[in-house]
Amino acid sequence: MFIQLEKGFYMVAGGDGGPGISCYKDCNIFLLEDGGEAMLFDAGSGMDTARIMENIKETGIKTEQIRYLFVTHCHGDHTGGLKDMQELIPACQVVASREEKRLIETGTEFELGLIAAKKKGAYPQDYVFRHGKVDLIAEDGQEYQVGGMTVEPIITPGHSIESVCYLVKRGGRRYLFSGDSVYKNGALSLQNCYGSSLEAYRDSFPKLAGLQIDGLIPAHFGFTLTNGQKHIDKALEYLQSSALPPMV
Ligand SMILES: [Zn+2]
Repeated sequence: MFIQLEKGFYMVAGGDGGPGISCYKDCNIFLLEDGGEAMLFDAGSGMDTARIMENIKETGIKTEQIRYLFVTHCHGDHTGGLKDMQELIPACQVVASREEKRLIETGTEFELGLIAAKKKGAYPQDYVFRHGKVDLIAEDGQEYQVGGMTVEPIITPGHSIESVCYLVKRGGRRYLFSGDSVYKNGALSLQNCYGSSLEAYRDSFPKLAGLQIDGLIPAHFGFTLTNGQKHIDKALEYLQSSALPPMV
């Protein structure tokens, strides 16, 4: 199963908080292709990576075409499947920020927010995070070329210690793959666990002002292909007011 958003732009995973096309715990995963080259955003929970790989296959895009896997942050529903994917897509390079790389590769269950998440019932008690590897460090100001698409990391701590949003320019349109940093209607995701900080949100979010985003593509819930900046601007407004912003 997959959902096609546009030509060469697919959602290939998404659990209970998304379209239900893969394991219930998976974040939304997106696959984009242009000029024969492709890229993925996030890797899912690792609870059923085979199903995600089947979805990728159904799109017609070959795993050998996938050059990069861009990681938004270390939480289990986003990178628990990273090790599996690296084994199944060996030529693909994994990109994440420096701090998220540390947690993905060697983070404890506490640092990964898993102890708190298990207490909440968000993961099965026997869930085991398999540590993957990160090949390239995402930094502000970089530009990755994938076919005719460009990808620019924007480091936006808040939801996690060094979450990354990725600005993608493709066919004259601009998309923000925002992970768990910001959702539609300006909703944020502050968690009561290691690495999550409202102060960090306040400090980093002004970077997302004025980006003229068309498509806002978060890693859970819904997305929009037009007027994405309007939703981001709402979050910016909330973060400038003393009231607590809406959280999901
Ligand atoms: Zn998260």
